[in-house]
Amino acid sequence: MIKKRIVITFPPGLAEKPLTYHLVKDFDLVINILFARISPEEEGKLVLEIGNSSEEQVERGLAFLRENGAQVEPLSREITWNEAECIHCGACTAVCRPQALALNPESWELSFDQDRCIVCEQCVTACPLGILRVSF
Ligand code: SF4
Ligand code: SF4
Repeated sequence: MIKKRIVITFPPGLAEKPLTYHLVKDFDLVINILFARISPEEEGKLVLEIGNSSEEQVERGLAFLRENGAQVEPLSREITWNEAECIHCGACTAVCRPQALALNPESWELSFDQDRCIVCEQCVTACPLGILRVSF
């Protein structure tokens, strides 16, 4: 299975179109929505993981999105965590909606699951020590 993580930006008005429905139905793509901020009047953002056994099919689906006016970019940035300097205060977990950053309920130590991270950058400003950073 080929999987790609992409960021889709919708201009105002396009959010009402059922584009993800077509990706599933017409292009046979497996879709996992990692993040969504959509309102009909404003620019919308979706972070998706899309997959299919054929890379060509994935590319067809992405071409369909672009043809319909969406901007499609790979999720190429990532968050780095300087674990050695972490004081496990938990401030970053409060803003991490996908729960990529979480405190272990027994040890109260922070863990970071890169696979869940959608690079929303909320934790970067939430950390009082500045040890969560965006890298390209
Ligand atoms: S950027 Fe930070 S807050 Fe956003 S999902 Fe990743 S770890 Fe969580
Ligand atoms: S906010 Fe910073 S110091 Fe606190 S747990 Fe998160 S990474 Fe560690």
